[in-house]
Amino acid sequence: MELWQEMLRQSVDSSKDLVERFGFDPALAGRLNSLFHIRINPYYLSLIRYPGDPIWLQCIPDGKELDEDGLPEDPLAEDSHSPVPSIVHRYPDRVLFLTTSQCSMYCRFCTRKRKVGDSTKINMKYIQDGIDYIAAHPEVRDVILSGGDPLMLTDFMLERIISGLRAIPHVEIIRLGTKMPCVLPQRVTPKLCRMLKKYHPIYINTHFNHPWECTPEAKRACEMLADAGIPVGNQAVLMKGVNDNPDVMLELMRKLLAMRVRPYYLYQADITKGANHFRTPVNVGLEIMDKLRGHTSGLAIPYYVIDAPGGGGKIPLLPQYVLGRNGNQIILRNYKYEIFTYPDVEEDPKVPTPTVEKKYARKPKRPKHSYEPDKVQV
Ligand SMILES: *Cc1c(COP(=O)(O)O)cnc(C)c1O
Ligand code: SF4
Repeated sequence: MELWQEMLRQSVDSSKDLVERFGFDPALAGRLNSLFHIRINPYYLSLIRYPGDPIWLQCIPDGKELDEDGLPEDPLAEDSHSPVPSIVHRYPDRVLFLTTSQCSMYCRFCTRKRKVGDSTKINMKYIQDGIDYIAAHPEVRDVILSGGDPLMLTDFMLERIISGLRAIPHVEIIRLGTKMPCVLPQRVTPKLCRMLKKYHPIYINTHFNHPWECTPEAKRACEMLADAGIPVGNQAVLMKGVNDNPDVMLELMRKLLAMRVRPYYLYQADITKGANHFRTPVNVGLEIMDKLRGHTSGLAIPYYVIDAPGGGGKIPLLPQYVLGRNGNQIILRNYKYEIFTYPDVEEDPKVPTPTVEKKYARKPKRPKHSYEPDKVQV
């Protein structure tokens, strides 16, 4: 057994553990445990500094998860974009490929609680269906291995899936969405890196939410991936009590860059049943973005996105930089709230510039053969 597998075996993962180690009321612990899995491995557990801290909030269950909040279990309508159980195909040219239900830690805010940890919903037996679906859809040029956490698979299984995908000529890039560099960096081994680099172009997006997660172990894992030629990005989730603060977020983004991880997305927390206590006002996110842009390296700035309820995909949000227009002048402000006017280029009325509004306007029908002499109108 590899070290990471041994560490997983030593996880806190039962209601009994909650009672004995964290003083939970047995009845509450039982209800929480039956609602959504618990798994905190000794490495991640060691990052907790005090009860209720940003690490604790992400991994230790909370009575609020039982609230009758009436919120949806599948807020992003992933199931309705699922042509086979292992595939979510929402965008034209890329798919999520759910390869395992298992995670190295069960995040209390997970948006896929309805499936994650449940091997009847995400299962090896659906993997071949997923590969067949991708092979039959030449428009799919980007495959994102997700789950669960695809690095919960053994190197052997993972290689079978990745080599299966690489055998499909139209699959250009393969991405892995994995929380391992953050929650169990010991999973990133030289053997894993040697395997992955055979199948380039491979990209990884990982999931750090707080600067305390940027440990020497995590740094080593990210550097090993980068040394294997894998660009590593980060998808953070904005959460109340965890990172809803511009200084914390700035520190996280800088630390990630120093670990060779490029911030990619900052997600507004999804409207998920049992996770409403993590949500923050959108203004908090906009305020954070405002305090990042200009104040630190542009490389440290993620896109702040809302995953549209009902499955509309990710929608980016920006603080207001365009204050208005004065005729031809655009009024802008910079990161220090200084005002600038920018003289826009006059639009030539004869050559309409395609703008977003115009794109949605009905296009006038153009006669197909207007060059034919008998149809030319003078
Ligand atoms: C997030 C997501 C992707 C990937 O989106 P990118 O913007 O390309 O990173 C693909 N499919 C689904 C269903 C997603 O939710
Ligand atoms: S690692 Fe991802 S899929 Fe697994 S519990 Fe956390 S958020 Fe959910």
